[in-house]
This record gives sequence, C-alpha cells and structure tokens, in this order.
Amino acid sequence: MSTELATLEPTSPTSHNFDNNGFDKAVMSTYGRYAIALERGAGCRVWDTQGREYLDFVAGIATCTLGHAHPAMVEAVTRQIQKLHHVSNLYYIPEQGELATWLVKHSCLDRVFFCNSGAEANEAAIKLTRKYAHTVLNIERPIILTAHSSFHGRTLATITATAQPKYQKNFDPLVPGFSYVPYNDFAAVEAAIGELDEGDYGVAAILIEPLQGEGGVRPGDVSYFRKLRQICNETGVLLIFDEVQVGMGRSGKLWGYEQLGVEPDILTSAKGLGGGIPIGAMLAKKFCDIFQPGEHASTFGGNPFACGVALAVCETIEKENILANVEARGEQLRAGLKQLAAKYPQLISDVRGWGLINGMELYDNVELTSSDVVNAAIKEGLLLVPAGPKVIRFVPPLIVTEAEINLALEALERAFTAVKG
Ligand SMILES: *Cc1c(COP(=O)(O)O)cnc(C)c1O
Repeated sequence: MSTELATLEPTSPTSHNFDNNGFDKAVMSTYGRYAIALERGAGCRVWDTQGREYLDFVAGIATCTLGHAHPAMVEAVTRQIQKLHHVSNLYYIPEQGELATWLVKHSCLDRVFFCNSGAEANEAAIKLTRKYAHTVLNIERPIILTAHSSFHGRTLATITATAQPKYQKNFDPLVPGFSYVPYNDFAAVEAAIGELDEGDYGVAAILIEPLQGEGGVRPGDVSYFRKLRQICNETGVLLIFDEVQVGMGRSGKLWGYEQLGVEPDILTSAKGLGGGIPIGAMLAKKFCDIFQPGEHASTFGGNPFACGVALAVCETIEKENILANVEARGEQLRAGLKQLAAKYPQLISDVRGWGLINGMELYDNVELTSSDVVNAAIKEGLLLVPAGPKVIRFVPPLIVTEAEINLALEALERAFTAVKG
C-alpha cells in the first residue's frame, strides 16, 4: 500500500449515476443507510459514486481482512472462477479439505463444518450442542447460556441466543432452550447452572464472545473465562466461542481465545474468514464425530470458490506477517484515541479493544451519540460504525498502514470539532 495518499479529497468524476430513489423502491427497508453509495475500493480506501474518497475503518464490518482488491484475493477469485466454483458436497472438494486442514493446524480445534455466514455457523453449533446433550449428557431439554449484550446473528435461533430485546421484539415465539446471564460475571453462570439443572432441563453449553463486538466492543476478563473453562470441565457443559467478529486475526492473535488463554470446545467463524467472500465455519473438538452423514448440511457450504479464496486469505495473513501489523497498528490507534479522549474528557468515557477491534465510548449522560460522530466522520472522509448508541467502533482492514491510522485520527478529531466546536 502506498503511504503517500495524504489527502482525502474528491478524486475522479462521477462514474456511476446512482439513483437512491429507485434503490429504496426496489430494496426492502431492513437497513438504516448512510446517504452515500460505494462503488470502488483499493486497500483501505473506498470511493463513492461521486468520486469522493474515504478511509474505510468499517471494512464491511470487520470482514475485509485484506482490504479491497488485494492481489492475493484477485488471483484466488480469478483462479477459482476459471477452474471450478461450485459443486455439491456429494463429492470431495479439495479446496475445502485444504482450508479445513489450515484451520485445524492453526487452532486448538480438530474438525470443521463449512457454511456461509456467522448466523449459520452458530446454528450449526446449536445443533451440535443439542445432539451432544441428548446423546452424551442425557439431557432431554438442553439449555444454552448466552450473555447480555451479546450478538450471534439474525436467524430465529440466533436472535434468541442474542440476549438483546431490540433484536427479538415482534419476532416471537422465540426458540426454546436459551437462558441469559450478565457478561464477565462468573457467579451468575454458576447460579444459572445450579438453578437450571432440574427435571428434564439442564445446561448443555455456554455460547459466548471472547470480546463482545456489536454489544459495545467489550473484551472478556481472563479470570472469568478461565473459570468458565473450569466449570465446563467439571460438568461436561460445552464452551462455545463465537469468534465471528473477533477471530481470523482481528484481535492481533489469530483467535480471540488466545487473548484469554482459554480453549473452547466449539468455535464459530465467518466475517473475516473469506476476506469479504461469504463463508462461515464451525470448528469443534473430536466429540463432533457424533454428527452422522445427513444430519447437517448446506448447499453452498464449503464450495471451491469460497474455500479457495479463504485459503488465500489465511495464507496471506501468515506469509505477510499481518498479525504483527494488527498489534502495532492497534496500539497506535488506541494511543491516538486516548489522546482524543483526554482532549474531550466530558464526552469520551473509555477507549478499549484488542488489536484492530476497538471501541470509543461516549458518556451516557451527554447528548452526543455514536451515530452523530459516525455521520460527522463521513463528512471528513472516514467510515466508522457504531456498536450500540454510545460506542464508536474501529475495525479497519488488517493491512492498514501507520500513515492511514494517523489520517483516520486526524479525520476523527475534525469530526469531534465539528460536532462539539
Ligand atoms: C456478525 C456476527 C454474527 C452474525 O454473522 P452473519 O454473517 O451476519 O450471520 C454472529 N456473531 C457475531 C459475534 C457477529 O459479530
């Protein structure tokens, strides 16, 4: 990446006449959108249909690991579409085997099931848990514990797992078999396991994010997670880490669990795994052999295209020593955000995160919201995404440069000046 691009000025003329109105007439209104349309990207930059350039610190929400139009992805996408892009899991798929082998070699898990998204990876984990509960733990009505402020996806089972009422409202009846505990509070887990093990009911798994992403960029406590591991060892309850957002190098380690020094029994991955090509995965220890042929499947899951590209992403992370960049750029970013926090002590209450998943929290009692800051940042040429009403999230591509972090910090400072004078 060039470090010379020091400006965030409009560049090329409009190349595409974008029609918002036509878009809104034809596309369902499930998303709140910012009033720009992006049509081109390179590295950590994207351009809108007016030719305006932005630094992309959203990266498709922690997804475009290698940024935009990375040569390794261009090569892999081109190769796979020319060679073979989709066949059924009725047959062996070499790229799927290679990607699974890479993931197993680079994690504490033993086998992989491939799907297409984070929610599907969690669905697979929920099904595996239920079979384990029925066949190993002899629990007739298994319960999965999840944490308040968590996020696990938008299918019916995963909005039920997501312990945030705003995602569940009006979609009941929800899926049975979930119960909620506060995050980073071990006494609550212990109490829940004690109370819920009654009659046909029993806790079969704890599904939890090593760092809560959507829920406000909240890192897990090491001591809490160690105790979770211990109680799971003692009871046979499965420990499932949802690493859809924090995994695949974003934390500065390949997996979030390495930040905590605690191994899960099941791990789910998606967002960054394909660098922006849709792919999800559930990784599990060997007990997953309780799954029999025909018990779980996905038409697109593990196709040669997605697996070939994801493998290129994985190998690039390794070859280009990207985790070292994530650590260094993450420290630089947090240091800059803390300086800004010191400048606005009445507004900014906290800066936190691991590697290149970071959050800046605004005080509850000030009027300013994360959306206000995100809107002001867009005007300054910086794309950011809220993580709830008070937290601004920073999840740039893992290849972001030192110069680009500095540019982003300058743009953010201008945005704060604009909203607060
Ligand atoms: C985004 C996310 C999901 C859902 O992933 P989709 O691909 O949108 O289904 C699940 N868990 C976590 C932690 C996420 O951040």
